[in-house]
Amino acid sequence: MGGRVAGPEIERLIQLLARLPGLGPRSARRAALHLIRKREELLAPLADTLRVACDKIVTCRACGNADTCDPCTLCRDERRDRDTLVVVETVADLWALERAGVLSARYHVLGGTLSPLDGMGPSDLNLASLVERVAADRVKEVILAINATVDGQTTAHYIVGLLADSKVKITRLAHGIPVGGELDYLDEGTLAAAIKSRTVF
Ligand code: ZN
Repeated sequence: MGGRVAGPEIERLIQLLARLPGLGPRSARRAALHLIRKREELLAPLADTLRVACDKIVTCRACGNADTCDPCTLCRDERRDRDTLVVVETVADLWALERAGVLSARYHVLGGTLSPLDGMGPSDLNLASLVERVAADRVKEVILAINATVDGQTTAHYIVGLLADSKVKITRLAHGIPVGGELDYLDEGTLAAAIKSRTVF
């Protein structure tokens, strides 16, 4: 362990940056130095933006998205398809699907998955509000865009059970070969899922 190279304020900046996903202590130090060097054009605007974001960011009470307004920008967008509801685990998943730019539907963020080991039960997820929305908004299709993990699939089956009494059509994302993927590099589980969900060419 070397001694400190900077005062406590800069050490604190490095420590906080190191807690960001994808940044370890070394990259955090590099990022901090970059911010310090670009004080006027980067550090000051970033500090202002973080302050404003900290004050304004709220969770949308309708869908669970993070935005600066409630209902969020997506829920307010009248052009979006009101018949289709896409169920995702997290806001990150919602944003990823939006980046794909294929859907113009509305979303429902669960806030995680069922996970007995982590103590996540049905009451810890936004499931009651999902059932309410499907009924109240007369949703015609629920797309389960849930991760292909054991907990994700357990959650998907649970939701199918919850919505069994409604007439809503329930679909899920296809499992299989990633775009640009090579068969030789895929694991057996992915290959088996791809063969099972093959489509007519
Ligand atoms: Zn919303």
